[in-house]
Amino acid sequence: MTARVLVVDDVPANVRLLEARLSAEYFDVVTAMSGQEALTICERAECDLVLLDVMMPDMDGFEVCRRLKTNPATHHIPVVMVTALDQASDKVRGLEAGADDFLTKPIAELALIARVRSLARLKMVTDELRMRVMTSHEIGIESPEREAVADTGRDGRVLIVDDRPSSYERIASTLAIEQAVEIEADPNEALFRAAEGNYDLVIVSLGLENFDALRLCSQIRSLDRTRNVPILAVTEPDNNARMVRGLEIGVNDYLMRPIDKNELLARARSQVRKRRYTERLRDNVQISIEMAITDALTGLFNRRYMENHLGTLIEQAAARGKPLAVMVLDIDYFKSINDSYGHDAGDDVLRDFALRIKRSIRGIDLACRVGGEEFVIVMPETDMAVAAMVAERLRRRIAAEPFPICQGSQRLPVTLSIGIAALRGQDDNAATLIKRADQALYRAKRDGRNRVVPDAA
Ligand code: GH3
Ligand code: MG
Ligand code: MG
Repeated sequence: MTARVLVVDDVPANVRLLEARLSAEYFDVVTAMSGQEALTICERAECDLVLLDVMMPDMDGFEVCRRLKTNPATHHIPVVMVTALDQASDKVRGLEAGADDFLTKPIAELALIARVRSLARLKMVTDELRMRVMTSHEIGIESPEREAVADTGRDGRVLIVDDRPSSYERIASTLAIEQAVEIEADPNEALFRAAEGNYDLVIVSLGLENFDALRLCSQIRSLDRTRNVPILAVTEPDNNARMVRGLEIGVNDYLMRPIDKNELLARARSQVRKRRYTERLRDNVQISIEMAITDALTGLFNRRYMENHLGTLIEQAAARGKPLAVMVLDIDYFKSINDSYGHDAGDDVLRDFALRIKRSIRGIDLACRVGGEEFVIVMPETDMAVAAMVAERLRRRIAAEPFPICQGSQRLPVTLSIGIAALRGQDDNAATLIKRADQALYRAKRDGRNRVVPDAA
């Protein structure tokens, strides 16, 4: 993994020092001498992480950070503020500007590298998701970037894992101002609890009495249901080695005792916000995948999916010596429904039609809308006789019950014609199978519609 780190500092010597350290760890380093320059580099997406000096002329680090974090194009780039100040209030100011962490000069080498590595790794996960998501504009849903920038990071669901009442009570009472807090005092229960509740953040005290808290963190990371929940570790002061180990295991952020209340609040908000953003990205990826294979009007699979998948189902059937049948369905005189009652009424019929298909077939059958009022149903492990029975049952169900249109104010009789074909021997393929079913459908239409016609072997 070679992440590209942007080092921003107005003092050349500081830039060179950080550059040397990061290069030694095989990071790719770019540098900027001013806030404005840094913003430009980030907007061009030319870095994965920013190490940002606080004290700079013109625009200070707080302002640069605030601008990065409120810009939809750059808000996801992790920012580590670097400062000579060692004031809790500065740290909180940085975190409130949206910084992901705060390091004080002189920078402890181990902490720097561990932190940069951990943030770069997390950014790569986000990048991967961003890449797979179609732009929100294409999907027609709210942009996750815009929502992320507007997210306050409050009202998240937070689980605290800590076995010392004096400690968890303090953390909980502070956090409860902004978050919905739950406490788990038994570390043995914590993993189950985390897996069960849909938390936005788990806070783990690394000083658990009879339990290895880092093991718990690593279990949270490896379990499917908890893999993506952020972990904020609470460490004892000056236990750098344990903190570094935690970051390696996948802890997202840490907080040193004695706990500064505002720092706790700011770090929790930041993790909750990031969690919600990546969840939105994940949802969008899911939506993109579904959109690529389904038909928006009916929710059935689309033609592309059918064409890709039918080949696989045929190969499976052939390899296992099992039958397979397909039906091609076409609504009768559908054009006249549109012509007499309007396109919306036609759409109502199509939706209801798809619903009736779904209710008439098994889970392993594949129902697709392949054209305007044309559908295909693929039925694995089904021979011609059974397919004919299923088709006839479906035909009767459609014809027997008129379709509600115009908000149910009218009911319209609808019929359909069905052609069926079954797999024949090794030479048969998706194209020939569909073609025979199509020819059967053509005969059904020609012979008067509202009927099922099997492919005449
Ligand atoms: P036949 O019995 O021979 O199948 O006649 P038909 O009228 O059903 O067939 P034809 O192929 O002539 O007409 C299909 C119509 O379906 C034409 C088209 O405007 C309409 N159509 C296609 N897609 C949609 C859609 O998404 N919504 C609606 N409402 N109509 C559609
Ligand atoms: Mg038709
Ligand atoms: Mg047609």
